[in-house]
Amino acid sequence: MHKKPDAVAYARSFLVEWKNRLENDQGAEFSNGKGIGQQFSRSFLSLFLRYAHENWPEKLSAEFKHVIIAAVHHDYERISKAPNPIAGAEVMVQYTRAASVAKKIAAWLHQEGWEAEPVTGPMASRLAMIPAAIQAGFGELGKHGSLINPEFGSSFRLSAVLTNAPLPLDEPQTHGVDDFCSSCKICEDACPPFAITADKQLVRGIEKWYVDFDRCLPFFNEHQGCAICIAECPWSRPGVGLNLAKKLARKSLKTNDQ
Ligand code: SF4
Ligand code: SF4
Repeated sequence: MHKKPDAVAYARSFLVEWKNRLENDQGAEFSNGKGIGQQFSRSFLSLFLRYAHENWPEKLSAEFKHVIIAAVHHDYERISKAPNPIAGAEVMVQYTRAASVAKKIAAWLHQEGWEAEPVTGPMASRLAMIPAAIQAGFGELGKHGSLINPEFGSSFRLSAVLTNAPLPLDEPQTHGVDDFCSSCKICEDACPPFAITADKQLVRGIEKWYVDFDRCLPFFNEHQGCAICIAECPWSRPGVGLNLAKKLARKSLKTNDQ
C-alpha cells in the first residue's frame, strides 16, 4: 500500500478532511429530518495507541498500530423507556449508525492508501472496545460496568476502526467519574436483579467496579437488552454530564489547593 511521506502533517489534514466528509455523507445517509450538524455533533471521534492497550491481541498488534473509536449518542427519550422494546430498538438503531460510521472511516482510510478494518457491535468482535475507548480518552468506567463520557453519559454505542494510518493519538482522561460513583447508588438501586455491586472488587489482580453478569444477563436477555442502569445514570441525562464534570473539576482544584 502507498504510504504518505509526512505522517504528522498528513494526519492533521486527513482529520480535517475526514470531519468534512463525515458531516456531508452522514447527513445524506441519515436524512431523517434532522440537520447534518445535529447528526455530526452527536458522534465522537477519538484515537489511541495500541501499546497502551493491555487487551490488544497479539495478532491485531501485528496487523494494526492504531484504533479509532467512534461513539454515537442514543436518543434519551427512547433509551429512558428501558426496559422496553422502544429502548431495545434504539440500541439497535445506534449500533447500526455506529457501524455505518466505522465502515465509512475504514473506506476513506483505504482510499487514502492505509490498511483499515471496521469493528462493529453488538456481537463480540476481535477488539475489546471498552478498554480501547478508555485508552482513547473517550470515557471512564462507571459502577454499572459501562463507560461514562462527560457529554454522552453512558447513553451511546461504540464502533472502532483498526488502522495503520499515522493519526494523532489521544490519552486517557479523568473527569471525576470514579469518585462520583463511590458516593452514588442510583444504578445499584435501579438494577432489578441486584447485579451491580456497591464496592470495587479485585478482578484478575486489579480493583474495579464489578457487575455480576450471572445476575445481569438473564434479566438483560429477557428484557430487550435492559439498559436501565445506562438510562438511570445521572451522567446520561441531557445537559447534565458536562456541568457535572465542570463542578467536579472545580471541587478537585479546591481540594488540591487546601
Ligand atoms: S448511576 Fe451513579 S454509581 Fe451508577 S454509574 Fe452512574 S454515577 Fe456511577
Ligand atoms: S443491564 Fe439491567 S440487569 Fe444488567 S446491570 Fe444494568 S440494570 Fe442491571
